[in-house]
Amino acid sequence: MGELTKVHDVIIIGSGPAGLTAAIYASRARLQTLIVAGAMWGGQLMLTTEVENFPGFKEGILGPDLMNNMWKQAERFGAEFVFDDATAVDFSSRPLKVMVGSKVYEGKSVIIATGASARWLGLESEKRLRGRGVSVCATCDAAFFRDKKVVVVGGGDTAVEEALALSKFAREIRVIHRRDKLRASKILQERAFKEPKIEFIWNSTVREILGKDRVEAVRLKKTDSDAETELACDAVFIAIGYKPNTEIFKGQIELDQKEYVVTKDTTKTSVEGVFIAGDAEDYRYRQAVTAAGAGCQAALDAEKYVEGI
Ligand code: NAP
Repeated sequence: MGELTKVHDVIIIGSGPAGLTAAIYASRARLQTLIVAGAMWGGQLMLTTEVENFPGFKEGILGPDLMNNMWKQAERFGAEFVFDDATAVDFSSRPLKVMVGSKVYEGKSVIIATGASARWLGLESEKRLRGRGVSVCATCDAAFFRDKKVVVVGGGDTAVEEALALSKFAREIRVIHRRDKLRASKILQERAFKEPKIEFIWNSTVREILGKDRVEAVRLKKTDSDAETELACDAVFIAIGYKPNTEIFKGQIELDQKEYVVTKDTTKTSVEGVFIAGDAEDYRYRQAVTAAGAGCQAALDAEKYVEGI
């Protein structure tokens, strides 16, 4: 057993809009609140630029600025932060335990707000060229590819939105999809089909991303034959969905088939005293404002739970 610390009223794992809103509510309610914020704190908004749809900022706000404000707001009410990753949890006994390496943090309640991460294709070349033309965020990186040729991989809402976002900058966008039909909503499909810069390459997968120091091309394979072709491009945007960050909760709380946290009665999980907020549970809305709302709900539920113990 590692080094022990005091028992907190609530330990929040994660520091995106869900985690930090939970922290603001919990600490302001005078609960002793610890946030295990992660080594890369702040969540997905740290990777974006302008946020125009978070209420209260009529001119918009930069994602990292918004997260900084939330952090400072939580700190003002006395929330404590650990800027490191939770490595394991033990929810089998009380107090609940959250491990960060050899350190063990104990809590009367826990709020899971670990969010979700973009999925990758799993190619070695994709890892090697990440940040060198390979991206999972058009909002963050589209402006680097003004007048360039880019590729988007995927056929869902994210892929089509990325392609549309890129059409404001890039000269040519090819969307590579493994089937002959999009999964994306009709309205987004219609917009993409109308955009002359966007072209679809159907029934194809990306076998390899080519380039020494920067993306230069992709090697494509047809799904209905062995035919392979090369397509020159300057960037590859991977948009094949998201994966909830729930690895450390396996075997501790109930997860569904896609590894999202199963909820009972809004923010409750299968373990008493463990609550959930944000993208680790919500694959439907995935918005900063919905995650923040869920963070508030989880904190109010945790407060009630701690008062009743
Ligand atoms: P998604 O709907 O799961 O779509 C993922 C896409 O990537 C699918 O077309 C899938 O192909 C493809 N794909 C998955 N793994 C692949 C692989 N290994 N290689 C190649 N292609 C692969 O994910 P999403 O687009 O991120 O959307 C997730 C949820 O968020 C959806 O409910 C969506 O409606 C919602 N969303 C909404 C909006 C909006 O309303 N504005 C924007 C973004 C997301 P198949 O089609 O063959 O499975």
